[in-house]
Amino acid sequence: MSGIDRSRLGELTAAETRAFVESHPRSAELHEQARRSLLAGVPMNWMTRWPGPHPVFVDHAEGARFTDVDGNTYVDLCLGDTGAMTGHSLPVTVEALARRAPTGITTMLPNADAVAVGEQLRERFGLPVWQIAMTATDANRFALRLARHATGRRRVLVFNWCYHGTVDEALNVLDPDGRVVPRPGNTGWAVDPSEFVDVVEFNDVDALRTVLERGEVAAVLAEPALTNIGIVSPDPGFHDQLRHLTRATGTLLIIDETHTICVGPGGATRAWGLEPDLFVIGKPIGGGVPCAAYGMTAEVAGAVLEAASGEDADVSGIGGTLTASPLALAAVRATLDGALRGEDFAVSVPLAQRWADGVQQVIDDHRVPWTVHRLGCRAEYWFCPAPRNGGEAAAAIDHELDAFLHLWCLNRGVLLTPFHNMALFCPSHTVEDVDRHTRVFADAVAALTG
Ligand code: PMP
Repeated sequence: MSGIDRSRLGELTAAETRAFVESHPRSAELHEQARRSLLAGVPMNWMTRWPGPHPVFVDHAEGARFTDVDGNTYVDLCLGDTGAMTGHSLPVTVEALARRAPTGITTMLPNADAVAVGEQLRERFGLPVWQIAMTATDANRFALRLARHATGRRRVLVFNWCYHGTVDEALNVLDPDGRVVPRPGNTGWAVDPSEFVDVVEFNDVDALRTVLERGEVAAVLAEPALTNIGIVSPDPGFHDQLRHLTRATGTLLIIDETHTICVGPGGATRAWGLEPDLFVIGKPIGGGVPCAAYGMTAEVAGAVLEAASGEDADVSGIGGTLTASPLALAAVRATLDGALRGEDFAVSVPLAQRWADGVQQVIDDHRVPWTVHRLGCRAEYWFCPAPRNGGEAAAAIDHELDAFLHLWCLNRGVLLTPFHNMALFCPSHTVEDVDRHTRVFADAVAALTG
């Protein structure tokens, strides 16, 4: 499918691995030490998913760059997988944190920043009522709970090969017989997912209709475009159908904008005129400080208000003691005020377009059957013609080729997002950063296709 000679790929990967080992001795040392106390030598298991025999240990990051403990500096096209989409250590956020930290980090009481943040969220994303969560994962879990409470239904519908965080319902896929099964790698899922979860392919309106018309689904949890199995765009009219069918069947629509905020200041919801019942945003809204938010319509708020605020609010299954701390709220207030604005996207979106154009040129020059896709300031290449749904995209995953391209780029000072071949742009990136990637990518494909 990818059009690549495997033995050549193996030789090139071995050479890149040797180069990586030579240029990262201090990272190797720290990783060895870390193995004594941390599971797999990392504080969070995903950190094993980087190219090379061990992760790169970071010394410092700023704007669109970071430097590792061996003194290598990189153009960061991962940006903490969107957590640092504002650029690392955005000055306005750093200043707000420095002002707030000495005056109470966590209190489990509201403050004036909470009011300002509620208003910022309402204005930016259009939903009238908001709650804060710690992460987008939490926000999705809480949104699902509220949707089940509001509708009195138990089932949840997600799209094949979606990703919404470590949310049990969303870590399932369709098997070749169309059954809902845990996705490969999903650990410890205690119940048969088909008891609670329906999965259909993105863009498959007929399958969506068939499931929703049973009247058992509390909510559809969806990204406006899939972004975690490459970028898969909605077909024209798909969102209209999704909204029509959810409304017609009494199903709530939860839109998760955590990645698609890359489309613009109000995410795809604002740009494409979506009308969710519940809305989730996480990752960059605190400039990288753990914080997320979920919004809801007045109708949903009315249906859940008592459960969320009554005598048993603390055991309602939503919220958490460290959530909406003064520190997190200060970060969100400053970040939403000073970043992720129209003027920021006016810089980052053209950079992503230039990156996509450069990658496309290389693909055309070498006649490989790959595609590149851009969504706002995010762009990604995939080793097949443009997939229409998650199943098609997943079938084209090539872990060996991914690993090689990531390592090749890393050894030449460019960090791509792990798990896929994604580049995200912030206003601190430059045209030279983009062109550097294009040159490095062109050399990689030339070496592969020789
Ligand atoms: N929603 C989407 C669309 C995501 O891509 C992710 C993470 N990649 C999440 C939610 C979860 O974010 P977090 O890991 O910060 O909870």
